[in-house]
Amino acid sequence: MPEHVVIIGSGPASWSAAIYAARANLNPLLFEGTVKPEMIPLGQLAFTTEVENYAGFPAGNIRAFVESAVASDRHYNLPPAPAGHVRDGQPHYAVQGIELMELMKQQALNFGTRVIGDDIVDVDFSRRPLKVIPASGKPVEAHTAIVATGARANYLGLDSEEKYKNKGVSACAVCDGALPIFRKKPLAVIGGGDSAVEEASYLANLKDAATIYMIHRRDQLRASKIMQERALNHPKIEMVWNHTVDEVLGDGNLVTGLRLKSTADGSTRELEVGGMFVAIGHTPNTAFLNGKLDMNEKGYIRWTKPFRTETSVSGVFAAGDVADDYYRQAITSAGTGCMAALDAERFLAAQGI
Ligand code: NAP
Repeated sequence: MPEHVVIIGSGPASWSAAIYAARANLNPLLFEGTVKPEMIPLGQLAFTTEVENYAGFPAGNIRAFVESAVASDRHYNLPPAPAGHVRDGQPHYAVQGIELMELMKQQALNFGTRVIGDDIVDVDFSRRPLKVIPASGKPVEAHTAIVATGARANYLGLDSEEKYKNKGVSACAVCDGALPIFRKKPLAVIGGGDSAVEEASYLANLKDAATIYMIHRRDQLRASKIMQERALNHPKIEMVWNHTVDEVLGDGNLVTGLRLKSTADGSTRELEVGGMFVAIGHTPNTAFLNGKLDMNEKGYIRWTKPFRTETSVSGVFAAGDVADDYYRQAITSAGTGCMAALDAERFLAAQGI
């Protein structure tokens, strides 16, 4: 028997779709992804510390709630509560990315979502029922599919950047910034958006942080006003305007500096840093679709009707960052996950399934 709904991905869109689909008795099957960079379990939020803008989660004793809600055999996956965030002797902080995702996952599990820790590597949407093909195991047939595989971090594309990945080059300060190789060293963050500011602030707030250079190709940040102020007013963050990275310099083992190029006059100069954190946007995780859904020029899935999650294939819906290169927020992603589940439910009802 084909599945009623298969959900691909495990970020806020996927879990929200699963919660709605499960509560509509559609018995959803969700492919969570593995540790491959294309489909990270729990999505981009697995790389985020505190999420201060997800409505319903003001700072508080989040840990006590999370531990009471999430099954104890998954507590090992929870990051430690951020140090120093205490009020009245209790932890007091905004929910962390992994905590939020584990809460969503738990909610989906509570309503009977079946979760498989595998990647979908191909699809056949040319026939009904639809077919999705996991990396290991036999194809799964389904009447509807919700694609919610998100987007992943971009890199600059320099050979020297590739050479020094995990040796001082990273796209995730939150994951790597506290590593010993970066400790007490001046560091560079590349980009001028919210992610770049977030990464720079995180690094600048680490104990013993040295100068954090934000290297941006223009003379103005793209980040939201409140984030801009955070960067511009931080005593340890120094802006390097109108420059790009020409080369990552190193001693063969670790990054020792960057050669920067002026976007104003093309001149170059060297900057001594012990690490480079790239925060220049994202690429949607749509390669596994092999072009079988209509996508925009950046590879994001196109919604074919305004305010609907329908794609170019009937019965296939898209939710979250994989179909959104504009808002890209956890909360908008969760909202479109809900929409996709409702769209799938109505599609099935219209087909009499
Ligand atoms: P973004 O807003 O697209 O910013 C990317 C930045 O990287 C831009 O400043 C861009 O420069 C620069 N850039 C792109 N390609 C480059 C290249 N090849 N070389 C040098 N610089 C390059 O991406 P984002 O910061 O990842 O944010 C994505 C979305 O998530 C946004 O909607 C953002 O608001 C949201 N977000 C929100 C939060 C939060 O609210 N706490 C945190 C993180 C992200 P230009 O400015 O010149 O284009």
